[in-house]
Amino acid sequence: TTILECRDVWKIYGAKADSFLEHTPDPKKGELRKENLIGAVRRANVQIRKGEIFVIMGLSGSGKSTLVRCLSRLVEPTAGEIFFEGKNLLTMSEAELIEIRRTKMGMVFQQFALLPHLTVLENAAFPLDVQGVDKKNREARAMEMVELVGLKGRENNYPRELSGGQQQRVGIARSLVVEPDLWFLDEPFSALDPLIRREMQDEFMRLQNMLHKTIVFITHDFDEAIRLADRIAVMKDGEIQQVATPEELVLNP
Ligand code: ADP
Ligand code: ADP
Repeated sequence: TTILECRDVWKIYGAKADSFLEHTPDPKKGELRKENLIGAVRRANVQIRKGEIFVIMGLSGSGKSTLVRCLSRLVEPTAGEIFFEGKNLLTMSEAELIEIRRTKMGMVFQQFALLPHLTVLENAAFPLDVQGVDKKNREARAMEMVELVGLKGRENNYPRELSGGQQQRVGIARSLVVEPDLWFLDEPFSALDPLIRREMQDEFMRLQNMLHKTIVFITHDFDEAIRLADRIAVMKDGEIQQVATPEELVLNP
């Protein structure tokens, strides 16, 4: 079953977006002229299935982050439609959107973005703090996640006292603490050195085998995509060029 779907999604940044909308008869119907072929994401159609690891792969600047930011509604697409569990993410109320993003989506970024003045445990518990969960409960749940990512014993350390790999583990714990259905990871291991990176990939697969999340994973690394993915969308210049299994891509790159 499909959990997340986008139809004919475009994202054009800045002032060009206005002229795009003015000069395009009806972007929803795809009546787009060749001269309008600008945009960080161009007419993306994606269906993400429950429980799969869907990797978005492409060179830097190909539009991966922008597409994922549209899918998670961190940014508003210039045109197109996005459905999460059948609900239209673009027409629902702001309150409903915030609720869905808080309780059903988890995000991990390349930059760990931990809060420096909070401990490991407090960082991991932070999304629950925002939800208003009381201290005892949120720390109990955060501790479970800290253990899950292998940081037991480090819960009272501050981010600066941890290695890059450990900091990213905190980021992973924090993103999982709300028990999201959909897990977005934007180049989560790219800042790590190759050995640690490999270790984190294995760790990630171990977690996924336990948790069975639906995952949207961005990488520019072919090997990483092949190792992790159930399906891979290849992006180039804002367009999804193909969606294939790792086997298909290895045989026919
Ligand atoms: P990737 O994630 O594949 O590196 P991005 O989605 O970050 O690609 O970028 C796609 C294109 O959109 C690039 O040309 C980039 O410079 C541009 N872009 C990304 N974010 C912004 C932004 N906030 N404002 C303007 N242009 C942006
Ligand atoms: P990534 O590809 O991982 O998103 P980038 O270095 O491309 O990383 O972008 C870092 C930040 O800068 C993002 O918030 C992105 O939206 C923004 N950005 C990227 N390109 C541009 C651009 N051309 N103009 C304005 N902001 C941009």
